[in-house]
Amino acid sequence: MKPHKFIIIGAGMAGIVAAIKLKEAGFEHIEILEKADSLGGTWRENTYPGVACDVPSHLYSYSFELNPNWSHVFSPGSEILNYFKEVAKKYQVDDLIKYNQEVTSAHFNGNEWEVKTSTGFLSSAEYLIGATGVLHHPKYPDIKGIEDFKGEIFHSSRWNHDIDLASLRVGVIGSGSTGVQIVSELSTQVKSLTLFQRTPQWIFPQFNPEYSAHDIEGFTLDPTKMQEHRELMSTVFTEGFSNAVVDADSPQMKVIEETCLQNLESSIKDPELKEKLRPKYRAACKRLVISGSFYEAMNRPNVKLECGGIKEIVVNGVKLDNDRLVELDVLVLATGFKADAFLRPMEVSTCEGNSIESAWKSRPEAYLAVTVPGFPNLFLLNGPNGPVGNFSLIDVAELQVDYVLKLISHLDSNGFKKVSPTQAALEDFEAQRVEAAKKTVWVTGCKSWYLDDRGIPAAWPWPFEKFRQVMSEPDYSAFVFS
Ligand code: NAP
Repeated sequence: MKPHKFIIIGAGMAGIVAAIKLKEAGFEHIEILEKADSLGGTWRENTYPGVACDVPSHLYSYSFELNPNWSHVFSPGSEILNYFKEVAKKYQVDDLIKYNQEVTSAHFNGNEWEVKTSTGFLSSAEYLIGATGVLHHPKYPDIKGIEDFKGEIFHSSRWNHDIDLASLRVGVIGSGSTGVQIVSELSTQVKSLTLFQRTPQWIFPQFNPEYSAHDIEGFTLDPTKMQEHRELMSTVFTEGFSNAVVDADSPQMKVIEETCLQNLESSIKDPELKEKLRPKYRAACKRLVISGSFYEAMNRPNVKLECGGIKEIVVNGVKLDNDRLVELDVLVLATGFKADAFLRPMEVSTCEGNSIESAWKSRPEAYLAVTVPGFPNLFLLNGPNGPVGNFSLIDVAELQVDYVLKLISHLDSNGFKKVSPTQAALEDFEAQRVEAAKKTVWVTGCKSWYLDDRGIPAAWPWPFEKFRQVMSEPDYSAFVFS
């Protein structure tokens, strides 16, 4: 067994795979600090009706632990959460997790990371892995009177399951992937549903068949079949989608745009509603929403679309800009997340006086999304400016963990103890990234959570293959080893 100790922050999808791969590589001193009382990250937090992943399930699975039992091509969130729990159990990762330990600070003392949690628990390790997720902190809208509402009000990621919605008038603010899934699912379950839409979204039609018992048996008895199925999904997803969005002029982007337009034209009958739902920017400029049931929901008589601005929230509902009141019993805020709050609010510092707060004062940056100059032995999974746009974040995390293991192996074989990237490597990467981003569809004239304060997409602007290639072998000249 290798002696080094690792602390992993977060027991979500990325933290779990980090622990599995570290164990596999022969490390036994691994501690996972998890702020909540159970694992699962985003799939633990998001339990709203209709929650699912828009990456096909056979693709949104660990490459080493395919699951023959996925119920649907795009399986529901609860199944995904169970999958992570089962994998953590099978690989005995759950034994490594310390629950209810929210990391409040991490300080590198020159040799080790000293980590503190909200309970006063102290721990230390040579290596610190931040697996704290991308969309983690809810973004609450700054709407006048929001605290006055006397009905139930909650963010989509804080769903209140105690309320029986059947006889209630429900409002949903936000028409991103989350709002669309909620509206699609709730439309048949509530008395009335009002979607408050600030900006319409293009909707890519989703075909989501169930896997039959025969399919599942086939996958179980013949894992090669399952592997082939995964590879097929990967090719379709990557070539038709992931690689399209990074080239706004690509023929695949045209196909996406035409498919979305055709979906709107053929699914919405009421001409007035159709115009209200028609975006005025290119498909996939915002994160593309995929749904096979949203337009159907919008056609239902108990579902209303309000696209006049919101003036204020009052005790009994939402007042629109024209002073019309929409009375509501429940208001759901599907208003997204603080996409740039990587690691924060924890304090991350070093004995040399560096702090993440000041390093990321303008915006978060990391060399190849994994390492940060001036922060030795700190590794981020699904960190800033990485491939968050329409890739399977599981693939991303797996490649990143392998990359980190290669860096550590290089340290060990050369007698070094510390590694961090050079400032020049980060700056060079950022310059190339900003340049490449100009070709993406994300900068073709919309507002989205992909865009940073400068309007530059905080995302990987190249095809996935390039990410795979740069992760396959670190460029050791980009690092300082000591
Ligand atoms: P989002 O894409 O950021 O959408 C937030 C929505 O809230 C937008 O429609 C936004 O309008 C609206 N909004 C925000 N503040 C508002 C305000 N003050 N007044 C009125 N409207 C306001 O958030 P999300 O839907 O939670 O999705 C975030 C990401 O999570 C997705 O892009 C995706 O990456 C991931 N996700 C994936 C899935 C899936 O796999 N299917 C499901 C859910 C989430 P504007 O457009 O005008 O800003």
